[in-house]
Amino acid sequence: MMKVSRRALLKKIILKLNKVDDFSYIDEVYNTQTGFPEKRWVLMLPGAGCQWSKEHNGGCYMCGFKYQLRHNGNKSPKYLENKIRIAFSLGSYLVNVKYNKPKSLFIYNGGSYLNDKEIPKAVQIEIFQCVIEKYKSIKNILVESRPEFITPENIKDLKSVLCNNCNLSIGIGLECKSAILERII
Ligand code: SF4
Repeated sequence: MMKVSRRALLKKIILKLNKVDDFSYIDEVYNTQTGFPEKRWVLMLPGAGCQWSKEHNGGCYMCGFKYQLRHNGNKSPKYLENKIRIAFSLGSYLVNVKYNKPKSLFIYNGGSYLNDKEIPKAVQIEIFQCVIEKYKSIKNILVESRPEFITPENIKDLKSVLCNNCNLSIGIGLECKSAILERII
């Protein structure tokens, strides 16, 4: 009988729960600053779902990302927090972060990481703390957020966890009706 590793079995179970094919993986990307390829850990977290999309008729027109993750809808905040914690722990276990030593971590949640209603603040901070304490190879964390959540207070809270050990990058999107205008901007 074919042997299935514990990691492969766990991955199968998680895929069923999370819907996304590869919710945690390590790949190699080109670092424009060093000029060398480096390992990156990509993690998709099941947050409460994009608030902008829920309140504005489906949100940004071109976005399909909001549909990708199985979001937690109207479940209690505790349920949401615990599910994100579990996804983070299992995600790190599946890709064996300690062994692979990625240089960066890109976190996607199909919405805004900095929105407390999508990813509760306590968990935002816990995840950063865990990276700093356990995964010292990671020198850059990227999250995505709508601009209204990128406040001095939110940045201060996350930066105070990272100190000088790790950079924080925040990706913001720009939706534009005209492709010409988009190129100019
Ligand atoms: S804010 Fe982001 S996740 Fe939400 S609809 Fe727009 S692009 Fe999609």
